[in-house]
Amino acid sequence: MNTEPDCLFCKISSGVIPAEIIAESQGAIAFRDIDPKAPTHVLVVPRSHFADVSVLTLSDPNLAGELLALASDVARLEGLDDGYRIVTNTGEAAGQSVAHVHFHVLGGRSLAWPPG
Ligand code: AMP
Repeated sequence: MNTEPDCLFCKISSGVIPAEIIAESQGAIAFRDIDPKAPTHVLVVPRSHFADVSVLTLSDPNLAGELLALASDVARLEGLDDGYRIVTNTGEAAGQSVAHVHFHVLGGRSLAWPPG
């Protein structure tokens, strides 16, 4: 497994930094965002390090599918029957603050579209 020693989400994936784990699959984990933007705000990340969704899809498209499947599992486990949003920010201008690809799963309230 490819990990980066200074990466926050690599450290969470390997258990070095604690997080509230919601669900896991062979190649991915889902844990609660530390600063939630909705009643349910869970991050789905690969166990291996990929900087963003472009790198991930080029390197391992099957793993990209596994992440989306786990995100859907999270929505079901969290009871987001009224709807939910899956977001991935790519690059600083889009607001990506952690350079380890992650899908935000947001729900539990009405979500404005388009986002501000
Ligand atoms: P982004 O800004 O799209 O890169 O998303 C990064 C997310 O990681 C933000 O929503 C942060 O609140 C979240 N975050 C940062 N540190 C932690 C942590 N230690 N545990 C859980 N979530 C975190």
